[in-house]
Amino acid sequence: MLRGFGRALRLRCPRCGSAGVVRRLRMAETCPGCQHRFERHEGYWIGAVAINTVATLGVFAAAFVGAMVATWPDPPWTAITIGAVILNVIFPIVFYPWSKTIWVALEVASHQSPVTSRQSPQSSVVSLQSETPEATSFSQDAPRADD
Ligand SMILES: [Zn+2]
Repeated sequence: MLRGFGRALRLRCPRCGSAGVVRRLRMAETCPGCQHRFERHEGYWIGAVAINTVATLGVFAAAFVGAMVATWPDPPWTAITIGAVILNVIFPIVFYPWSKTIWVALEVASHQSPVTSRQSPQSSVVSLQSETPEATSFSQDAPRADD
C-alpha cells in the first residue's frame, strides 16, 4: 500500500510503477505498463477533486498560520490576501496530477470493490468500455510480462 503511494507521489502508475501516466497535466486513460484503466466509471475523479480540495485547504491553512506567526503583531494583510488568492488558484492546478495518482493509489490499495460488477442502469453505455482481465486481479504486485 505504501509502495502505491510512493509511486503516486512520483506520478507513476500506483499499480505497476510505470512512468508516463501523466503528460502535461493530463492523466492517460490506461496505464502504458499494466493497461490499468484509471477512470473506473463516470464521476470517478470526484475523489481526486476531494483530495485536491483538502490538500489546498491544508496548505492554505498552514501558509496562513505561518504568515500570521511570522509577522505578528502587524501582519501585512494586503500581501497575505494576495498570497492567499494566488496560492488557492495555483496550488490546485499544480497539485492536480498528484491528486489523481494518489486517488488511484487509494483505489488500488482498497481493491476490495469488484470492479467488474456494475449495477448501473446504463449498462449499454458501460458495455462500450472494454474491461481488461487485469481489472479483476487482486494482486497489484503480480509479475507481468511486457507485451
Ligand atoms: Zn500500471
